[in-house]
Amino acid sequence: MRKKIVAGNWKMNKTFEEAKALLSEVVNMVKDEVTGDVEVVLCPPMVYLTTSRQYITPGGRVSLGAQNCHEKASGAYTGEVSAPMLQSIGVEYVILGHSERRQYFEETNAQLAEKVNIVLEHGLKPIFCCGESRDLRENGDYMGYVKNQITESLFHLSADQFANVVIAYEPIWAIGTGLTASSAQAQDMHFELRRHIAGQYGDAVAQDTTILYGGSANEKNAAELFAQPDVDGGLIGGASLKSREFTNVIKARQ
Ligand code: PGA
Repeated sequence: MRKKIVAGNWKMNKTFEEAKALLSEVVNMVKDEVTGDVEVVLCPPMVYLTTSRQYITPGGRVSLGAQNCHEKASGAYTGEVSAPMLQSIGVEYVILGHSERRQYFEETNAQLAEKVNIVLEHGLKPIFCCGESRDLRENGDYMGYVKNQITESLFHLSADQFANVVIAYEPIWAIGTGLTASSAQAQDMHFELRRHIAGQYGDAVAQDTTILYGGSANEKNAAELFAQPDVDGGLIGGASLKSREFTNVIKARQ
């Protein structure tokens, strides 16, 4: 059985005091209100990760994720953060290849393959983001483009390694725009991605792969998105910055 996950990507938001308030609110609401087997991953900015850990019970429903990491384990890379550092402070997940990083920091599929490797080597789980632009969705082979992102960054892994990867399909045209993919559009893509994974690793691995949807998911549309058979949860940006709304999204998946 694949895992159900709702992850909150805070991006570059919140001061320290605001971050602590949001953390404690979300952790308490989840404790009081969420049942079932959904896992919650909070991805605050790097600088708050160590503090964030104090809010989280190890082995519980809530775990911590980083929003990025460097592809090397250590060295002269001023300003960067490595996978072993994240592992050493109790982080479990790392978002990799978010479209904002691909766009503003020019991350490539090949570089992301290296990041995936270092993250897995250090016992962390990548949340690997993929997704097409609006132009591709309207005029091109968007399905082929997204499949290729997965092929080039993930298909060098063994089946055992791949079992630790979470995929997040995030159409760029839906991120932060208020335009959500319809539940049918999300399901179509997730179904095709699962088939693509089955082609490489076989059906059993594909059926066990968690595929999240991201892009303007919120408390109003989450239930319908999560009701699709191949949508296993969400990677939530804007709606993860408000404790009430984020908890409602989690409850839509529980
Ligand atoms: P959004 O962001 O929910 O604000 O659209 C999702 C993401 O970029 O992960």
